[in-house]
Amino acid sequence: MFDLFASGLKLKSQKITSGQAIEVMPPPKKVHIPFSQHQGNPARPVVSIGDHVKAGTVIAEAEGFVSVPVHASISGTVTAVQRHPHPVLGHSLACTVEADESDEWKNPAQTHQSYENLPVPELLKKIKGAGVVGLGGGAFPTHVKLAPPDDIKIDTLLINGCECEPMLTADYRLMLEYPVGIVEGAKIFQKILGTPKLVFVLENNKTGAAHALEKEGAVVRIIRARYPAGHEKQLIKSVLRRTVPLEKLPWHAGCVVQNIATCHAAFQAIRFGKPLIERVITVSGEGVREPKNIMVRIGTPLEDIINFCGGYAAKPRKIIFGGPMMGIAQFAPDVPVIKCTTGIIVKLRERSEPETSCVRCARCVDVCPMKLMPCEMVKYVKHNEFNKADDLGTRACIECGCCAYVCPAKIPLVHYFKYGKTEIQRIRS
Ligand code: SF4
Ligand code: SF4
Repeated sequence: MFDLFASGLKLKSQKITSGQAIEVMPPPKKVHIPFSQHQGNPARPVVSIGDHVKAGTVIAEAEGFVSVPVHASISGTVTAVQRHPHPVLGHSLACTVEADESDEWKNPAQTHQSYENLPVPELLKKIKGAGVVGLGGGAFPTHVKLAPPDDIKIDTLLINGCECEPMLTADYRLMLEYPVGIVEGAKIFQKILGTPKLVFVLENNKTGAAHALEKEGAVVRIIRARYPAGHEKQLIKSVLRRTVPLEKLPWHAGCVVQNIATCHAAFQAIRFGKPLIERVITVSGEGVREPKNIMVRIGTPLEDIINFCGGYAAKPRKIIFGGPMMGIAQFAPDVPVIKCTTGIIVKLRERSEPETSCVRCARCVDVCPMKLMPCEMVKYVKHNEFNKADDLGTRACIECGCCAYVCPAKIPLVHYFKYGKTEIQRIRS
């Protein structure tokens, strides 16, 4: 087993859905599909109110290289193109489609048997055309990640199956239930990059998934379960002992990291011509009656998902899209699942103790996986001394939340660092 970084946190596992097979949620009556679901330029809308669309119809075209198209996820009629709650951006332009209940697909599944022989530009075109982005939460367009500059040599492709957030199990179930597509997708990425080494990385609490992948011919490395092992930079450090320089990409450390769900989505796109219109998420927490792993259409509203999972167990105190450590709290019942939504966590209890003064305990320093000094950084951010905060490396913060989790003074450190990073960026631009 590979030794992981000494910092980070050993969190209590709350993966209560790990034994729950993926259930396919029926298409909802209405979806709200944001045009902005990936990093880079938002897609450009190409539909109007009254248009009829099928599942898989392009509703927004990619705008430039760092962008992907967005597709309808159900068949029906476009009833609105307007600003709508967005799980990451607050609000953004979105397309509402009301279902006609035929669930008709634009291009019913096609099988491309000889996809292995397609030339690299054709593979990249298909991946982009299907709207594939990083499904681990980053949502970086996959075809861009697979096209490093000519002067950069990539020797290793790491496939990230760590899923280190404590309550999420969607990737784990995907590896157990769909190992063939994941391994084939990873091999397609390997061919595109021309990398000699392809390694799957899993935490030591996912032995079953490791065996499922190995049966399909995957080389698997096991690392210790320790949050945030699944963060790209930590993964590269743990497995390859390489450091990605500040403001640089894994390319600059000679590697590419892809999430396992992204491999599966790319395989679906190339083998079956299927665009990215659904994904697997975990719905968990004490606030939902039937925690599950579900395959859900992109654009499905939160309230439909909760109803599919038996409804709320009691009045929720907090609803998070993503994992409990890095996820984002939501306020609107019709906020939709988007491509980078990994899970929905419903909490009935929420710590709301007031922030007090730093007691200089240095716990935040001990746990920071980026070797930063959160207690010092926060002082400067609080006093709007952003240049000094920058000198201390605030931009390197990966917003993992470890420091805030252990802080006895209940200082919302990540909140300050998000703000500080935005201000530093503003000053530097
Ligand atoms: S400073 Fe940033 S990287 Fe370090 S523990 Fe806090 S959130 Fe994580
Ligand atoms: S953990 Fe909190 S109280 Fe302790 S040094 Fe860091 S900021 Fe201060």
